[in-house]
Amino acid sequence: MKQRLTVLGSTGSIGTNTLDVIRRNATQFEVFALSAATQVELMLAQCAEFQPRYAVMASEPHALLLKDALEANSLQTQVLKGRGALEDIASHPQVDAVMGAIVGAAGLSPCLAAAKAGKRLLLANKEALVVGGALFMETVRANACTLLPIDSEHSAIFQCLPEDRATWNERIDSLLLTASGGPFRQRDPATLSEITPAQACNHPNFSMGRKISVDSATMMNKALEVIEARWLFDVKPEKIKVVIHPQQIIHSMVQFKDASILAQLGTPDMRVPIACGMAWPERIESGVAPLDFTTLAGLTFEEADACRFPGLHLSWQALNAPEGTTAVLNAANEVAVAAFLMGQLRFDRIHAVNLATLEALVPTKPNSLEELLALDDEARSIAGAHLEKFSV
Ligand code: NDP
Repeated sequence: MKQRLTVLGSTGSIGTNTLDVIRRNATQFEVFALSAATQVELMLAQCAEFQPRYAVMASEPHALLLKDALEANSLQTQVLKGRGALEDIASHPQVDAVMGAIVGAAGLSPCLAAAKAGKRLLLANKEALVVGGALFMETVRANACTLLPIDSEHSAIFQCLPEDRATWNERIDSLLLTASGGPFRQRDPATLSEITPAQACNHPNFSMGRKISVDSATMMNKALEVIEARWLFDVKPEKIKVVIHPQQIIHSMVQFKDASILAQLGTPDMRVPIACGMAWPERIESGVAPLDFTTLAGLTFEEADACRFPGLHLSWQALNAPEGTTAVLNAANEVAVAAFLMGQLRFDRIHAVNLATLEALVPTKPNSLEELLALDDEARSIAGAHLEKFSV
């Protein structure tokens, strides 16, 4: 039997890489549903190739455009729109696995719906976990959802951890997340104010979506990953460490009590963790060439400089603050990054907006999806108000 997949965010960087892995393993996987926000042409091409039963667009105008285009091409895919439809395709009884690859907090409700329906959830959308936190993990546990990390660092840690979860606490000393350091690792901090969106999106090793590219440049991506690791692996925040490794050959490591360290290595290409999650515990073709050790110039490691990357430490600060604070941090960062990408905020002020929002809003523990979404909204409007103060 083929595994039937819903790919949330199929037109993005992770989404298109997922479809590439499906294409290479067509005897084992088929597409049940796809989703996107704005890219109608690409969605049309994906529907023509993968023939999904449903395609969900984020808004009515894009849904109408897609519907017309599908009809003009005599394609049978049914078009739906909005949050409810995303939840439906993530929890549909005929779906085996869901790839969560929407960017930002918009991915929370469909990923949570997949968890509630006990699906095999391949989670790239780290913001869902950063916002959802304890509630997300309780839903995963209560519904026997199989949660498989797609972020390369978390996939690496997942592969290095002992199979028996009950032993983690007594055996593990720390989780070592590696980070590329992004394009400005060696840049003079005094010049960070001049960085343009095009420069920030030019990641040295990966071609990724614009939001995560900016997050990599500020190292807020690593901050979100620290929070993601805390929830995925149920470890205390102080047991999670970050080390810069510019070549991104080691994707992350687990250090055990006896000082032994296990690492996962590979060519830096997201199809590797995607294929790993899709097939786990089996292995399938990812389309990626294996590492050639004889051509590697060297593996280097450095500490993250707090002057260049002040946002990194907000992760531990938020994790040690009242529950819900990580959702506030995520919302502020989404607002600040969007403003930077639109030329309304200087690169070096993204951190200022994040910090000011965290200081302005101390949440009470969110107990439901609706409370989380309300908190996300509140944090966005506070961050929006701070934007005016800090904008160019
Ligand atoms: P992209 O920006 O490339 O793609 C995002 C996808 O989500 C697109 O399909 C987009 O649609 C859709 N989308 C955007 N906004 C909304 C919305 N409001 N509602 C519904 N759908 C929406 O992002 P990436 O693929 O780079 O990243 C996706 C997730 O994976 C992020 O959470 C990121 O942190 C994580 N991740 C990404 C990695 C990478 O290498 N790219 C590595 C590890 C994790 P459209 O394009 O049609 O507008």
